[in-house]
Amino acid sequence: MVLEKLGESLKATLEKIANAVFLDDKLINELIKEIQRALLQSDVNVKLVFDLSNKIKKRALEEEIPKGLTKKEHAINIVYEELAIFLGGVGHKIEINKKPFKIMLVGLFGSGKTTTAAKLANFFKKRAGRIAMIQLDMWRPAAFKQLEQLGKQINVTVFGDEKEKDPVKIYKKFEKELTDFDLVIIDTAGRDALSDELIEELNKINKIVNADERLLVISADIGQAAEKQAIAFHDTCNVTGVIVTKMEGTAKGGGALSACSVTKAPVKFIGIGEKINDFEEFNPKGFVSRLLGMGDIEALLEKAKDAITEEEAGDMSKKILKGEFNLLDLYDQMQAMKKMGPLSKVMELIPGMGQLKMPKELLDVQEGKLEKWRYIMDSCTKKELEDPELISGERIDRIARGSGVPSKEIRELIKQYRQSKKMMKMFKGGNMKNMEKLMKRMPGMKGMMG
Ligand code: GDP
Ligand code: MG
Repeated sequence: MVLEKLGESLKATLEKIANAVFLDDKLINELIKEIQRALLQSDVNVKLVFDLSNKIKKRALEEEIPKGLTKKEHAINIVYEELAIFLGGVGHKIEINKKPFKIMLVGLFGSGKTTTAAKLANFFKKRAGRIAMIQLDMWRPAAFKQLEQLGKQINVTVFGDEKEKDPVKIYKKFEKELTDFDLVIIDTAGRDALSDELIEELNKINKIVNADERLLVISADIGQAAEKQAIAFHDTCNVTGVIVTKMEGTAKGGGALSACSVTKAPVKFIGIGEKINDFEEFNPKGFVSRLLGMGDIEALLEKAKDAITEEEAGDMSKKILKGEFNLLDLYDQMQAMKKMGPLSKVMELIPGMGQLKMPKELLDVQEGKLEKWRYIMDSCTKKELEDPELISGERIDRIARGSGVPSKEIRELIKQYRQSKKMMKMFKGGNMKNMEKLMKRMPGMKGMMG
């Protein structure tokens, strides 16, 4: 996992908030210290850490708690919101809106430019039409071969000329051919440091290429030093964004991400491994949610959309709100859950659910179990389905005979039903507004958990 340590420390801190009996100023101060410690360990700049923690503290102590939120929920939400703002706030997606759209990569030696060129090409394969890459790095021997090989892997055309030493000439040579493509990715040479020579070279290339996006590629392991680099490159070739690579291999990524966010060059992508697919669009909100174990709500809703229709969702949430949750609903929800994947994984995606202790039985919805439930329900009367509390004693024996399922398993089903109903009540006491919203989109979840 990216920034695993930072995530763990922050999660532990939030759990303390969630578990606190009483959230007073003293506890808030303690939590702020822990957040500071976690960020400093991730190589975030000291001044940035203090600015951020002061902001969180001020809001937590002074802000009026919005209706429908508890003090704890409010505090957790502040931490989440401020961290997301800290890492850049809104995401910065690249829109391919002309032909050819040109993305030029710049950066120092070994930062990951060439690898990232292929990752980008692969990323846009599903979103843009024809894609080409061109190698303008005349410095590193075999730079062209490296890109050519990557191009083969992903079936993307690669231009270049090993014999030519002038990048401008190479670009001119292929310029006409490149106009056939929708997206052109331009790889360039680096140096050990941002020298005058590199600046001059990039300026020359920049002039002739006139790229729509100039992206600086930075390795995460330089931590907060990323700020200096981002500013220097921004000043010399007006970079439009940053790609932070090798995020998976360092604890310093928090430093690199936050450092870039204070420059005028937002982080647009992150590299999280050596393989072509180890690459993500950077979206601070989603990133922070995952980091905090609060879940990426959008990702969850995407999944939920596939699992159930709006109409089903609407019906279900009404029922749950009215407390009319019955056995058939439980069955429907279990089935919806199954479509979404392993429950434990889905749980991680829901805000606040990551920390929830789920009864183990709820976590394994096995194929066979659902089938048995179907048999049990087929042997129930309509009344029993609507009011499962009726099912006891002789009724259980009757259903067992009818369904061929042992009475023990029928009792289990009733137990599970009661648990779900109980959890539902728990949520009703909590933040209803958010839960309602979430539930509308995914009643399967809602019913399962409350
Ligand atoms: P360039 O000199 O800037 O073109 O850098 P390269 O693309 O040649 O990459 C340098 C090294 O970093 C290679 O070994 C890559 O496999 C590796 N690399 C690039 N991106 C990542 C990443 O996100 N994670 C990891 N672990 N390695 C990466
Ligand atoms: Mg290279």
